[in-house]
Amino acid sequence: MNEKCAVVGIFGHKEASELAYFSLHSLQHRGQEAAGISSSDGKKLHTIKDRGLVMKIFDENKLATLKGDSAIGHTRYSTAGDDSILDAQPVFARYDLGEMAIVHNGNLTNAEEVRNKLIEKGAIFQTFMDTENLIHLIAKSSKDKLLDRIIDAVQRIEGAFSLVFLSRTKMFAMRDRHGFRPLSLGKLSNGGYIVASETCAFDLVNATFVRDVEPGELLVFEKGKEPVSIKVYEPTPKHCIFEYVYFARPDSSVFGQSVYQTRKNMGKELSKIEPIEADMVIPVPDGGVPSALGYAQESGIPYEMGIMRNHYIGRTFIEPTQKMRDLKVKMKLSPMTDIIKGKRVIVVDDSIVRGTTSRRIIRMLKEAGASEVHMRVSSPPTTDPCFYGVDTPSKENLIAANMTTQEICDYIEADSLAYLDEEALLRSVNANGEDKYCTACFTGKYIV
Ligand code: AMP
Repeated sequence: MNEKCAVVGIFGHKEASELAYFSLHSLQHRGQEAAGISSSDGKKLHTIKDRGLVMKIFDENKLATLKGDSAIGHTRYSTAGDDSILDAQPVFARYDLGEMAIVHNGNLTNAEEVRNKLIEKGAIFQTFMDTENLIHLIAKSSKDKLLDRIIDAVQRIEGAFSLVFLSRTKMFAMRDRHGFRPLSLGKLSNGGYIVASETCAFDLVNATFVRDVEPGELLVFEKGKEPVSIKVYEPTPKHCIFEYVYFARPDSSVFGQSVYQTRKNMGKELSKIEPIEADMVIPVPDGGVPSALGYAQESGIPYEMGIMRNHYIGRTFIEPTQKMRDLKVKMKLSPMTDIIKGKRVIVVDDSIVRGTTSRRIIRMLKEAGASEVHMRVSSPPTTDPCFYGVDTPSKENLIAANMTTQEICDYIEADSLAYLDEEALLRSVNANGEDKYCTACFTGKYIV
């Protein structure tokens, strides 16, 4: 099961669960399927989790029951498999050392192997989540202290993980050795700490960015002490480049760079690939906005909002059937007929996955009277599935794995189609020749 989620942890604040709630709200774009918060009052953990959006699940009364000055939270995103409440996080457990809760963003690549071994030894699982493996590994570890058990457990898992653990008195944050998924550390105005998947969560709770949790680093938070850093693995960074392309919010800084600025760079680079004469550049909202701006600024072609987005509908990608996906694109995006009628339009989106969105948009723009529609994509063709936590479909459903660019252009009924190439993408993210990004979804080069 693929999970592309958000995690947050608050330590040392008397309104910890409220702060976790606000942080999760600003991280809602990373997962809309389910959400949850666990807090600790020092003696006991309290957990509330449910399906749906953060604002729907929690209210003042519920937050009041999540007592204590530490809390962790999660928003969940998954397409395939079970949307059962059991698969919502935090994952909570009682074990010989007390109580713990875990939140996880990423995907473990050896989950099945670990799970089968645990089952052989008699473990019983309640969910399909790879995160549950960790609970068992910690519970079964022969070490005496939770810290040592966590180190023991994370050394048995592979793949992508940004994790936050909560015990009755401590909080732990850990990032895999490649730092696939983001995780940042911030300081609260009262001196407490926050860790979150993206820095946009800090702004809402008035926290200041301290630094990223390093790849391979475990941070230990304990009352009255500064966080202690433990290097569990030598870092070998392979940050997910798709965070910049699509997933992260533009007002976040991930892997040390502004997402907005990076997306604008992608648009600037894109404008140099197969340049074309046109009357306007329009974004597919919201994903294509910063790159369309960069495209317009670099090419000098005017930027227009040619498509309106209805904000009261979720992401189209998560609908299981093609028919529902088609309908939802129509419900979500509408053409600005007066602006595009009779015009040559360049339309910019961040990615083409199955081709559903682009095909529908191009039809819509042509029906609204656009004389030409040129599709430009601010990332390379998505040819390979992700095993590290971005929910991409299997290879059969990835249009670029099965068709040439010309065939895709014909399928989506565009007058022309061009993608950003890998070199230009790496320039946009300031890779400077360093091999520190995972580009597997565009290149098939898997690290783990
Ligand atoms: P598709 O319609 O299948 O070609 O999907 C492309 C659209 O989905 C683009 O507008 C992207 O912004 C968006 N998208 C790309 N990757 C994802 C993802 N992992 N989850 C949700 N939406 C995505």
